[in-house]
Amino acid sequence: MRRVSIFGSTGSIGQNTIDLIARDPGSYQVVALTGGRNIAQLADDARRLNAELAVTAHDELLDDLRAALAGSGVEAAAGRTALVEAASRPADWVMSAIVGAAGLEPGLRALEQGADLALANKESMVCAGGLMLRTARAQNARLLPVDSEHSAVFQALIGEDLSAVERIIITASGGAFRDWPLADLEKATPEQAATHPNWDMGQRITIDSASMFNKALELIETKEFFGIDPAKIETVVHPESMIHALVGFNDGALMAHVGPPDMRHAIGFALHYPQRQKLPVERLDLVKLGQLTFREPCEKRWPALRLAREVMQAGGLMGAVFNAAKEEALDAFIAKQITFPRMAGVVEDVLTSLSSQAGHNTDAITLDMVAEADHLARQAAAAVIARKA
Ligand code: NAD
Ligand code: MG
Repeated sequence: MRRVSIFGSTGSIGQNTIDLIARDPGSYQVVALTGGRNIAQLADDARRLNAELAVTAHDELLDDLRAALAGSGVEAAAGRTALVEAASRPADWVMSAIVGAAGLEPGLRALEQGADLALANKESMVCAGGLMLRTARAQNARLLPVDSEHSAVFQALIGEDLSAVERIIITASGGAFRDWPLADLEKATPEQAATHPNWDMGQRITIDSASMFNKALELIETKEFFGIDPAKIETVVHPESMIHALVGFNDGALMAHVGPPDMRHAIGFALHYPQRQKLPVERLDLVKLGQLTFREPCEKRWPALRLAREVMQAGGLMGAVFNAAKEEALDAFIAKQITFPRMAGVVEDVLTSLSSQAGHNTDAITLDMVAEADHLARQAAAAVIARKA
């Protein structure tokens, strides 16, 4: 039996992970499940999967979780410390699917105790890619991408020589406002931004898809994960979301990863790697599909793409600054304090004011340094938002 833990088990990725694990109960022993405010879901899953431990991120919900787990034998815990402690419990495979920079430390702890880490939490690579890779290497633990684009690139690179890679193309659906007139974006609401044409995901990543901050994070994630020169990383708008990424080699070959928009493919690939096993995803009928289309991304509509290039260029702790500023701007948009296009303005102002965070030697970056850069960026973002609000 493989010992597995799922961080962010109540979310979209977490539930898809549970779907796969629950189909094969004899193969897994669930160590820890963690969630936020959805105590009923957390407790239900913990009972059903006979988990050793369930953790809510919120201290004040400990009594509710205890009550929901009464008589089940599942241990209940709450709060940040408990979350990090849960990540230190020995496991063979851990899913990192908390949203935001909050997912960094649990994932890092899981790697430190030698677990293979399936990484949906792209923010970990954006904020501390070098640290994640170094820790995995030191522990001989596998770091496996779960973001669909990065899983696609990872799969296209199996058996290949990285030095033969000419380019990596990350596709983007374009999100909710792909076809809106630019002038209408000022009036876009969080509810409108939180609908996605193809993927069913958490609220935050869905809004980030509309602004392409999600794609911006993914460009940085690509650079960090594969150690690829940013000049070789491209993005293309692909409204059908069937091709997740393409890798171009120096002989002109372009390898595309094609599949329906169902995260259980990337999650299952990371779960079974290095084997391939049958997964419950739809098999594509190419004739029914008919055609796939591509467009150039417009940087006026999606300034986040330009900012990502600047962040990749700057290096150091600018990824952590970028992510934290983006999280604060997103919160302000969701709270209707700023407009949809203003999010990019806030992030750009923070990047400018904290440009001193660039240039750190990536090999020397520690969790404390990332936390400090994150803190400074949130402070700076709050000031920018307050000034303009
Ligand atoms: P979600 O909002 O559906 O779920 C997030 C999970 O994290 C929930 O379990 C929630 O309780 C928990 N959580 C939220 N804030 C927390 C905090 N501060 N501390 C501890 N736990 C917290 O999000 P999601 O869509 O499942 O995305 C999870 C991660 O996977 C994100 O990093 C996202 O970018 C990435 N990702 C998601 C998808 C997708 O299809 N949903 C695809 C690619 C990558
Ligand atoms: Mg993705």
